[in-house]
Amino acid sequence: MWVQRVDVYRVKLELETPFVISQGASAGYEGVLVRVRDAQGREGWGEAASRPGLFGETAESVLGALDVLAPELLGQDVRAFRALIARLDRALVGNAAAKAALDVALHDLAGKLWGVPVRTLLGAPATGRDRFLTDFTLSLDTPERMAHEAQARVEQGFRALKLKLGGGRDPKADVERVRAVREAVGPTIELRLDANQGWTVPEALRVLQAVARFDVELVEQPIARGDLEGLKRVRGGQQPVPVLADESVCTPQEALRLVRLEAVDGFNLKLMKHGGFLGAQKVATIAEAAGLIAQVGGMLETDLGQAAALQLALALDVVRYGDLDMGMTLRPDQRLIARGGPRFDPETGELVAPTGPGLGVEKLNEALLGEPVAVYERG
Ligand SMILES: [Mg+2]
Repeated sequence: MWVQRVDVYRVKLELETPFVISQGASAGYEGVLVRVRDAQGREGWGEAASRPGLFGETAESVLGALDVLAPELLGQDVRAFRALIARLDRALVGNAAAKAALDVALHDLAGKLWGVPVRTLLGAPATGRDRFLTDFTLSLDTPERMAHEAQARVEQGFRALKLKLGGGRDPKADVERVRAVREAVGPTIELRLDANQGWTVPEALRVLQAVARFDVELVEQPIARGDLEGLKRVRGGQQPVPVLADESVCTPQEALRLVRLEAVDGFNLKLMKHGGFLGAQKVATIAEAAGLIAQVGGMLETDLGQAAALQLALALDVVRYGDLDMGMTLRPDQRLIARGGPRFDPETGELVAPTGPGLGVEKLNEALLGEPVAVYERG
């Protein structure tokens, strides 16, 4: 139960099609994976997915951060994983994605040590739910192509869709996108929006007023991350769509500031920006105490990240929405999980959690990992 070794892998994976949001396009996935092993050979896995333009980290900065963080774990008792994660915060400020990789790997390992899923470690009742509705995220594109993609995903079984909007400073085109998708999928599919900071306050108000008639569930991050007063104006303006902070809420301190200002209706929680399960729980607790709603989402991540996010969504009562489609746009031969992990149920549009310990991932596709780029071992 002592941390014996940490292996770090640099991973590049291919997507079925490029993923486009208001801040730019991603042609593929580039991330860092960690494996934390104890002296008995048990192992826990975690992922650091970085998005430089949104959260400031790069694959290189993650490797540099892990060079500081990984040695902190060596020789430490896995059973004290929460104290170990706090120790990481003292060793290095910021660098949430790098910390998330180690935090998730430690939870996976601790779950295996005790023989329970991570959601049970986090406090979910053992008899609790094991499935969560997920949306599928539609990449920013023309209204016609987004409607076409929406239809195809509904045919695959998705009951909720998230539309990426806010590109090109063209509110009219955004309204058209929502209209085209709603007409394509009919009235029963949930629609959620994400502008990724792509609008100004007046643009946000214009779009949200206009799309309200298409029955929209929520909007993420309509305007620039730092403009909290502006978020409050969007939330309090003449429009009925609940506003969720995403890029604006990484730390618990940022969450508190948003609550004090009454700037948003809820938070989008992501392991990558809160530094893992522990940080996400802190932000979720603030949401719950303030009576806000919460969603669990993710970045452009692998199916390993999806397995982790599903455990988080199932563990927290405050989470109402799941944006848990991570890894689903990877080319099928580029998925990391070879055995175990979540399963999509096309009958209900839900993601079903495995019953196994930790993240429930039994085997990874090692061919996609290659050789470790760094190894930290207890001497
Ligand atoms: Mg978002």
